[in-house]
Amino acid sequence: MAASRWRITRLALVPLLTGVLIAGLTGTTTAAASGNAPLNASAARNLDDINQDIRSAQYVVNRFWATHWSEFFSGWYSPPRVLGGYDGARSNAPRCQGSPLPDDNALYCWPPYDFIAWDVDLMRMGYRQGDAWVYLIIAHEWGHAVQARIPRRLLSRRVELQADCLAGATLFGAAEDGILFFETGDTQEIAAALRQHADDTPWTDVSDHGSASQRLSAFNRGARRGVGGCFT
Ligand SMILES: [Zn+2]
Repeated sequence: MAASRWRITRLALVPLLTGVLIAGLTGTTTAAASGNAPLNASAARNLDDINQDIRSAQYVVNRFWATHWSEFFSGWYSPPRVLGGYDGARSNAPRCQGSPLPDDNALYCWPPYDFIAWDVDLMRMGYRQGDAWVYLIIAHEWGHAVQARIPRRLLSRRVELQADCLAGATLFGAAEDGILFFETGDTQEIAAALRQHADDTPWTDVSDHGSASQRLSAFNRGARRGVGGCFT
């Protein structure tokens, strides 16, 4: 994926998603190919790349919510604090509500803390398969921050699946706004991330986040129906 201000590169993988998403992908890929996202498939995926993608994802997700908040919710939008990357294997990892931030995971720490953070190893592991991973994680955790800002009656009992839905609404909504460009393989990477890591990482733990297919269908619902589709 590429934000309008950032140059990112992508490789093509195997299509996995449904017709609707692929149709959306085709449209935005065309837009990207027409000048906003120069392709450089051989570029090395180094630390600079991942840090740039992380900054880009924060920019895109925050801007989406700042732009659209009042279409869905009352009150003013305020972004969560971004604590950023931490090393969960260290004994002095930062804390949320008194507990050290979890190893190989990402989280939103609910108010009054109100911050987003991720283990750098979790980001790097997923990033090896593509940059869409960091967009997915940040959009999902930001979705929890949205949940913390809206009336409780709007919260789904499945808060994790609702956060996936909001992630889909955010990323595809940002693409519609022209601030994010899906490149070849991005939607496949997201599908693969939700499937392949299902057993590998706490972030995709079935017991709290839902099965891979539930997560993918929640993400797709947001992608197709937008923010409103996450509150039915
Ligand atoms: Zn979550």
